[in-house]
Amino acid sequence: MPKEPAYLILFADKRDYENNLKLIQFTQTNLKEEAIKAVVLTGDAQEAASMYGDVGLSELDVLTYAQYSKININQTATTISTFLRGQPHGFALFDNELGTKSIAKRVAAQLNEPIITNIKTITTVDHDYRLEKRVYGGEMLRYVKVPVEGQALVTCDVASVQLSDKDKVASPINMHKITTVAPSDQVTYEVVKQAVDTLTNAKVVVSGGKGMQSPAGFQLLQELANQLHGRLGATRVAVEAGWVDADMMIGQTGKVVKPDVYIAAGISGALQHTVGMDQSKYIIAINTDPDAAIFKLADLGIVGDVEAVVKQLLSVLKEPVSS
Ligand SMILES: Cc1cc2nc3c(=O)[nH]c(=O)nc-3n(C[C@H](O)[C@H](O)[C@H](O)COP(=O)(O)OP(=O)(O)OC[C@H]3O[C@@H](n4cnc5c(N)ncnc54)[C@H](O)[C@@H]3O)c2cc1C
Repeated sequence: MPKEPAYLILFADKRDYENNLKLIQFTQTNLKEEAIKAVVLTGDAQEAASMYGDVGLSELDVLTYAQYSKININQTATTISTFLRGQPHGFALFDNELGTKSIAKRVAAQLNEPIITNIKTITTVDHDYRLEKRVYGGEMLRYVKVPVEGQALVTCDVASVQLSDKDKVASPINMHKITTVAPSDQVTYEVVKQAVDTLTNAKVVVSGGKGMQSPAGFQLLQELANQLHGRLGATRVAVEAGWVDADMMIGQTGKVVKPDVYIAAGISGALQHTVGMDQSKYIIAINTDPDAAIFKLADLGIVGDVEAVVKQLLSVLKEPVSS
């Protein structure tokens, strides 16, 4: 089977402009020998053509329809799938932005093609592509092999691409005006959570595990977190026990935090937990078991009952500071 061209999927929204350029540069760097085509979805054909018509693509397709809006993700995905069905392609590449990824996943399902997300690099090894994927919040690498003649959707992590000045090279441009699109799927929603994830960005995280023994144990930790202007975290065991909300879970299947201070209270230090916190600057562990794995990571280890230690800490923190 001959190798088909790579297709980039671009969105004409102004806020996607830089990501689009990064995706183009990423693909030109990673798939050097390839024909690289792109399709841009837009409501304004001329604008899109002038933005991407001279960036060195093998060919540019401009897909225009009056109702275009990227946030109608089902409608946008169906438009892309319909287009790609008629275009021989090897990889179809998207950027890794959250909204784009939601679209890419739907396109993969509609085309029945595999999807590989969060890709940092693509190299060719023998007769395969080797895609480097960061997993566990960037803590580990996984390599995925795809035969050179294969088809797959790939979302690329282009955040670290440094845009460089390139000579302008004009591409052949095909204009497509779409008259019938899938019904809009725009929904209204209400924000029920804070927009900023305060746990992920916290400077101090006070985290509890099974050793906290109950929701009351976590109330004590919340008090400590408040005193330290920090946020509360937890292990999966504590979440599964129903002591805290799932969005507090730190680790492999939870959040990755990198605070200045991480207090691990009643936490054993299982790898699935520590991948989410081992880049904290200063780790304090409190555990009754002197052999607990968490002590190997800790800068300061306190062997003792967590309730007694936290109460003591709180009483010290609440003492008035003498001048
Ligand atoms: C696929 C998979 C994904 C997973 N993902 C995650 C994840 O994202 N995050 C996560 O956290 N886990 C995850 N886990 C679970 C993980 O393997 C561990 O089971 C979990 O992290 C252990 O939680 P823990 O430390 O609270 O409990 P335990 O391992 O049971 O440890 C409790 C600790 O508390 C100490 N202790 C008990 N009483 C006291 C006391 N009174 N005072 C002080 N110390 C006390 C004990 O000595 C012990 O060290 C995952 C597991 C799998 C299989």
